[in-house]
Amino acid sequence: MGPVENLMSDFLRECGGVAVIDGGLATELERHGANLNDPLWSAKCLLNDPHLIRTVHLDYLEAGADIIITASYQAAIQGFENKGYSLEESENLLKKSVEIALEARDVYYNRCHEASYNPSPDGRILKQRQILVAASVGSYGAYLADGSEYSGEYGDAMDLEFLKNFHRRRVKVLADSAPDLIAFETVPNKLEAQAFAQLLEEEGINIPAWLSFNSKDGVNVVSGDSLTECVAVAESSKKIVAVGINCTPPRFIRDLILSIKKVTAKPVIIYPNSGESYDADRKEWVQNTGVSDKDFVSYVNTWCEVGATLVGGCCRTTPDTIRAIYRTLSTKS
Ligand SMILES: [Zn+2]
Repeated sequence: MGPVENLMSDFLRECGGVAVIDGGLATELERHGANLNDPLWSAKCLLNDPHLIRTVHLDYLEAGADIIITASYQAAIQGFENKGYSLEESENLLKKSVEIALEARDVYYNRCHEASYNPSPDGRILKQRQILVAASVGSYGAYLADGSEYSGEYGDAMDLEFLKNFHRRRVKVLADSAPDLIAFETVPNKLEAQAFAQLLEEEGINIPAWLSFNSKDGVNVVSGDSLTECVAVAESSKKIVAVGINCTPPRFIRDLILSIKKVTAKPVIIYPNSGESYDADRKEWVQNTGVSDKDFVSYVNTWCEVGATLVGGCCRTTPDTIRAIYRTLSTKS
């Protein structure tokens, strides 16, 4: 086993067994005043408001997150090119997403260092520890910005080569920007999981990755593909160091973890959404359909009991959610 394969297990040992991931990015950016009504979604902030992205990363670190995820989920080179950016400009925006997160980590490390002399009285968590930066890669459906990452329906003409070529350059550029991890997120079907796993090999990527699927029925991934077959794709790749579920309602998570554990011994990563429903036609979350932070956190211990070792939040979760997860996990250990 080389260092790539060991990164996650070493990190989890340092964390005391369970690591905290950050929460929703887009909703937090909006709360700080960003206007994300655009197909590029949170990636739009890379262009206009990079300082807001850094602020949100810092908010999550100070809420206790051990891993922060970059603002590149919807940042596909093709998406930037559709907006009139050159290839070089598009690649620079991808690099920038990683740079902003690395910069936030440096600022945080400094604050932790200062806090070791002057403890923070305001509840911010300023604890010196290893922080990982995960470069987000959204699915092809995320680039389409039509909600198809929540259906997994890419049409009959879709094939493995198309998906690999769609993602190839972005994955390479992100890997070259030196994040600690690559986060393949909201993967809606098995074909795209295979594309990601093969790209890591074909491009000789030496950054470990996680593969995270979403589900809308608590049994299969959203396309209807078998979750266990999807997880088997992760299991067969040495470069994939964790596998799990994101952007899925909390009530489905326990059973999904049990299915995942049947197929793999890799660390299981869980970052559900708040449970609110998303209206893909109106491109907005339906208010008040989700669970409270208190209810969200009441699930966390169960998820860990059945085998999750990386826990955070996806859409509509906030630094308050992550702080509550951090607290419940630190009480436990
Ligand atoms: Zn989400």
